[in-house]
Amino acid sequence: MDELYTDLCVLQSHLDNLVDSIRLNQIKLHRFQTLEMNLLTLNSLRELVDQVLEDTRLLFELDAVSFVLVDEKGELKRFLIEDGLRVEKQPNLILLSSGDLLDRTFRKHLRPYLGNYKVEKCGAFFPGPPAPSSSVALLPLYRRGKLMGSLNLASTDKTRFCEQMATDFLDRLACVLSVCLENTLNFELIRRTSLIDMLTGVNNRRYFEQRVGEEIDRTRRTGECLSCLFLDIDHFKTINDTYGHQSGDRVLVDAAQTIRSTLRDSDVLARYGGEEFVVLLSAGTGDRAAADVAERIRQCIADHEFYDKNSQALQISLSIGVATLDPSRIDGIDATVERLIEAADRALYLAKNNGRNRVVSGFVEPSIQKAPQQYVAGF
Ligand code: GH3
Ligand code: MG
Ligand code: MG
Repeated sequence: MDELYTDLCVLQSHLDNLVDSIRLNQIKLHRFQTLEMNLLTLNSLRELVDQVLEDTRLLFELDAVSFVLVDEKGELKRFLIEDGLRVEKQPNLILLSSGDLLDRTFRKHLRPYLGNYKVEKCGAFFPGPPAPSSSVALLPLYRRGKLMGSLNLASTDKTRFCEQMATDFLDRLACVLSVCLENTLNFELIRRTSLIDMLTGVNNRRYFEQRVGEEIDRTRRTGECLSCLFLDIDHFKTINDTYGHQSGDRVLVDAAQTIRSTLRDSDVLARYGGEEFVVLLSAGTGDRAAADVAERIRQCIADHEFYDKNSQALQISLSIGVATLDPSRIDGIDATVERLIEAADRALYLAKNNGRNRVVSGFVEPSIQKAPQQYVAGF
């Protein structure tokens, strides 16, 4: 009788353990499902990065989470910056210019690595070393055999991730995240290529038209000035007539890249059409600062050596019209867009009429509009 009772007690204890472990797994499953559901509703790479870095850490009560992405052409960095992410302020987002690290770590069997933090194996996956004796899980993210990145989790609990552990939940999370990442990257590429000028590689007019409204809205909310620069290459027809259309194309590409190189990552540059470009300067730039930027661009183009298709050097110049929007005088977005563009165009017209290769700046609002003044005589 006693023996039977002892057996029953042992059985009961086994059952209790089993129920505890089922409950624990249920909680885990629920957390994984919550994260996966969130991942499936995202619309941009920026949202994906935010979600992965913040929600994973909080949801799983981890000590550190990092997200490695292969970014061979620097495109992902550009997408994120354009969407307002301060990439330099995100140490846990690691963008790699080659897939070598991931190949070395996962290539053999594309399986997660679970175990103790070892600096030689895990050092490059975390911006700072986790606490001593942390355990880590490095999850490879891949699609169609190509490694795209990894999700890296660290816990100060050294038993949290062990080599012998079943990895079903983590495998599934990595799989869902890989699909979401691939979809997001494809979506971003389509979104961007339809907004990029095929010749020069800078944004096109469509992008500018979408963006200018957003920037005006932001200006209204933040109270920071917004400046619009219209840039037009002087006598470009003569370049085509003298050196040929192909050389004209080369000059346009070079001019676009030269202008881009004078701007901050957060400034917007677009090809407005033909030999005309437009720049939006925000975040604290005032009318004087905008005129200074315009002058820097003008000078940079005037100093730059361009080449025709036979590598013969040639020089060009730019005329620039600058218009600055007073944030306290924004009414409707569409009407303000129109006024901003009109004012920049008017200033450009004056720059052309005053002899070209110069910057003219003015305010947008008629009530506080200074008569457009010549700011810099180019020569
Ligand atoms: P202005 O100083 O008054 O601006 O003179 P401009 O010659 O630059 O202006 P105009 O509007 O008379 O001519 C613009 C020229 O730009 C004519 C057009 O053939 C050329 N153009 C427009 N798009 C392209 C392009 O994609 N490639 C090349 N090579 N030329 C282009
Ligand atoms: Mg023109
Ligand atoms: Mg021109």
